[in-house]
Amino acid sequence: MLIKIDGKTYKGHPGETLMEVARRNGINIPSLCYKKGFEGLGRCRLCLVEVSEGKRSKIVSACVYPIKEGIEVTTITDEIIKMRKDIILLLLLRAPDNEYIQQLVKEYEVKAPERYIQNDNDDCILCGLCVKACEKLGTKAISLVNRGITKKVSTPYDDPSKDCIGCGACAETCPTNAIKLEESNGIRTIWNRDFDLVKCSICGKYYTTLDALKFIEDKLASNEEHICDTCKKKSTASKFKESFQHIY
Ligand code: SF4
Repeated sequence: MLIKIDGKTYKGHPGETLMEVARRNGINIPSLCYKKGFEGLGRCRLCLVEVSEGKRSKIVSACVYPIKEGIEVTTITDEIIKMRKDIILLLLLRAPDNEYIQQLVKEYEVKAPERYIQNDNDDCILCGLCVKACEKLGTKAISLVNRGITKKVSTPYDDPSKDCIGCGACAETCPTNAIKLEESNGIRTIWNRDFDLVKCSICGKYYTTLDALKFIEDKLASNEEHICDTCKKKSTASKFKESFQHIY
């Protein structure tokens, strides 16, 4: 399937979104709530682009728009810039101190009237990526709760959740670093709960929680060696090198 983005032709596969084709080809479409490996959420709306089919054109969110043969996409127009500025302004009002929002403010030269800025130190933009990450794991420990201005991501009743395994996937996927994860003396604290950390048997660094390991072992029905990702990669690379030397 062929589509055009900013005048150049690109190949796409049926079922792909505009964002997937753009990212694969190194085309920058701004987004906070899109992450590779996750289906688009269309929440932050920063990825607005213009799509033309024949004589008709419309503004769509690239992260949720499935490509069609022959469409022509424009990633920057005066109208799109104006819309993105409005969206950034709303994000700024919600999370005025957040460094990621501040980067966008600078890039798009957005200026918010002082009297509208609410300084309540909330970095969350309610995109829901963390909730998706937790759902994908199968833990479903957090969700978007409440409505209107009290809407937030939380565990049920803000209590420490028995379903949370302290894996930190939610914090890792958060585009604005809004989820607080602290580690000290072998304990990780997240969502009001403390978790024992486990050390890598090779490098000796803490790398995950006991609950997360147990969860994975139960899922895979196996007892794996406790090795962190970095050491796993190193060991695979050296095994590969050994077999390569053996051949030659
Ligand atoms: S740390 Fe808890 S809430 Fe966050 S993704 Fe893991 S299980 Fe879900």
